[in-house]
This record gives sequence, C-alpha cells and structure tokens, in this order.
Amino acid sequence: MQDFDFAIVGAGIAGVSAAFHLAPNAKVVILEREHVAAYHTTGRSAALHSETYGSAEIRAITVASGRFYRNPPQGFADHPLLTPRGALIAGRAEQKAAMQKSAADYARLVPSVRWLEPAEALKLQPLLKAETAGGGAIFEPEADDMDVAAIHGGFLKGARAAGAVLRLNSEVTALDRRDGRWTIWLKDGEEVGAANIIDAAGAWADVLGGLAGCVPVGLVPKRRTAFTFDAPLGLDIANLPMVIDFDETWYIKPEVGQFLASPADETPSEPCDAQPEEMDVAIAVDRIETGTTLQIRRIKNKWAGLRSFVSDKNLVAGYDPVVEGFFWLAGQGGYGIQTGYAAGQLAASLALGKGLPKDVADLGVTEAALSPGRFAA
Ligand SMILES: Cc1cc2nc3c(=O)[nH]c(=O)nc-3n(C[C@H](O)[C@H](O)[C@H](O)COP(=O)(O)OP(=O)(O)OC[C@H]3O[C@@H](n4cnc5c(N)ncnc54)[C@H](O)[C@@H]3O)c2cc1C
Repeated sequence: MQDFDFAIVGAGIAGVSAAFHLAPNAKVVILEREHVAAYHTTGRSAALHSETYGSAEIRAITVASGRFYRNPPQGFADHPLLTPRGALIAGRAEQKAAMQKSAADYARLVPSVRWLEPAEALKLQPLLKAETAGGGAIFEPEADDMDVAAIHGGFLKGARAAGAVLRLNSEVTALDRRDGRWTIWLKDGEEVGAANIIDAAGAWADVLGGLAGCVPVGLVPKRRTAFTFDAPLGLDIANLPMVIDFDETWYIKPEVGQFLASPADETPSEPCDAQPEEMDVAIAVDRIETGTTLQIRRIKNKWAGLRSFVSDKNLVAGYDPVVEGFFWLAGQGGYGIQTGYAAGQLAASLALGKGLPKDVADLGVTEAALSPGRFAA
C-alpha cells in the first residue's frame, strides 16, 4: 500500500491549490473520482474575479489570491491569468440607498470601487434599460476575467513538479483510521495510506466527512445555470463590463463575440453531475430581455454546476474538531476560483500546524471564522 502525508480528495480548484502549497513540504496524493480533473464545478464557472463578492472573509481571501493571479511566478502559465473586464452592479431607483451603503462597504477593502449615477452607468453599459440602472450602479473597475484552465493547470503542474501524485478514476469509498493513520479504500479495490486527509470533495464534502465519521458541516450544494448567446451583429462588446442586477437575479458577461449569462439560481440539490433545466434558462432570458435591450434568439451552450455553501456562506478550512487527521476544505460557494490560491495556501499552512499565513490574517481573516468547529452547538 502506498503511503502519504496527505491524501487530498478532489482535483477541482480546491484540491489542486492545496496540493500546490503542500507538495513542497509533504508527500501528497490527489484522489479524483472522475477520469479528468476539474470535471465538476471548477469546469463550469463564470470565471469572474470580483473582490466585492461574498462575505468579508471571502472578499479578503479573494484579494489575497488576486495578488498571486496578477503576478504569478515565471513558468506558472504562458499567458496572463487575469484580464480586465470591470463589473457593474446596477439597481432600480428604490435600491439606491442600499446600493450606496454596499458601495461604501466594498470601497473599504477595494478603494477603486466607484459609485455611478444612472447616466454614468448607462454610458458605461449602453445595453441596460434606463430603469434597470435607475438608482445608479456600483462599479468595480478591477473585476477581471479569469483563465480558469490556466489557473487550475498551473496549480496541478506545480504540485506535480514538487512530487505530488494525481490519481484519476480513484473514487474514495471507505475510510478507516488506526494507529494515527488512514486507510483509504478506492472503488477499484485498491488501498492508499495517509497520515491526514484533506476533504476537497466539493459538493460531496459532507459525504466524504461521513465516511470518516465526522459530524456534517451542513453543506448545501446549490445548482446554478449558465448559458451563452451571440452578441447583436456588428456590436463590439469586447470592452463592455459585466452586469449583475443588485438583487443578483441575473447577470451577463461579455466574452469573445458572445455573452455568458445566468439567472443566478441557487436551487438546493443532492451532490450530482448537475444539468441545466430549461425553465431556469427561460427565466434568465426573460429577466435579461426585461433588464436590457438585448433579444436572445438562440442559446448556444448551456450547463449547470453546484455551488456549495455552509450556513454563513464562508469557507470551511481546518481540522475536524473530533476526528483526528481529517481536514475540511469546503464551502467554496460561488467563489472557489477567485479565492483558489489563498484558500489553498491557508489550508496548507493550517494543515501543517503553522496557523494562518500573515498576509491573509492581515486582511482580517481569523481561524475561528473558517473553523469547522464553528458549527458545533
Ligand atoms: C455557473 C457557475 C458560475 C460560477 N462562477 C464563478 C466565478 O465567476 N468565480 C468564482 O470564483 N467561482 C465561480 N463559481 C464557483 C466555483 O466554480 C466553485 O466554487 C469551485 O469550482 C469549487 O471547486 P471545488 O474544487 O471545491 O469543487 P469541484 O470542482 O466540484 O471539485 C471537487 C472534486 O471532488 C471529487 N470528488 C468528490 N467526491 C469524491 C470521492 N469520494 N472520491 C474522489 N473524488 C471525489 C469530484 O469528482 C470533483 O472533481 C461558479 C460556479 C458555477 C456553477
């Protein structure tokens, strides 16, 4: 039986980033059920890096990750990981006061965030109907498009270069801990040994915790739908910002010659290979045609993925309070890529008993806010 210091379960962004940070200091194996890495949620995102999205801790971990993504080490990827996009959160007249409060809150962490009056918002994003931005908009000029494949691939390449092993087609089906070590059974009957398990199983994190005898952290996978459609003929959308309505009930994000769109749905689901529902696409089309001047004639591609949240919508990172050697890295929600670098970094640091990295702690993140123990009664 092969033996490791850390067995990371899941080769999505969470698992490969943790491996990237752990592998220089420990013997690491990544166990992934699918025949490719990033098959589930990581391969299905909208690829936006927004430092105004999520709880205060999520925003801080996003900022810490952005420092790496904007300036990765030589050889990490052969082109930039982030490219400028800009994001506009637009709201109706009656939402103005609430939006201005949010804008002030966001600007404390991200000083470039600006408040736009309705006319300025419409100038920046002329596809909006006047009433959609009737209260104005919050503008985040430094929100960026992410190259998710390059980020995920860079972590994996770096982890392997430092000695980590990736095993695909390796579903973990049973766990047993004896004499300070885990025996991990795989579906094909093979066994792997490890001192510690890192649970980076995405929507399945509570299922994996159950195999180890842990009390669940209460993870709820929520389906989110996305699709693409062509931009109006002759309209250059390359430099338009993404638009999200203030209630987060739809968004559109310009891509090359097309839009990526979503009804921003959050339908609770069992962990599964999520598929899009026609009704959710239809709801998004209606909301986008109501909020903008766009007419959506044909859906090009559609997909869905599971964004998995715990009750406070924060990340869960830390050793289980009861089950020895079981480390949770779960609850990435709608932020797993934008937080990916620093989430992996802080997970590795905590797993090695070194506490939170200073740059993350300096941004106001505490171990207690991330601890799986926070759900204990
Ligand atoms: C439509 C949509 C838009 C999004 N937009 C953004 C965005 O703009 N920005 C952003 O940052 N995030 C976004 N997200 C969220 C982001 O994609 C997720 O937070 C992130 O991908 C979660 O990564 P993960 O590694 O935790 O999970 P996953 O990528 O799902 O990886 C978990 C892996 O664990 C494996 N696994 C599970 N159980 C086992 C087992 N027993 N044995 C072996 N392997 C196992 C699974 O096969 C899977 O590959 C979006 C998500 C969706 C669906």
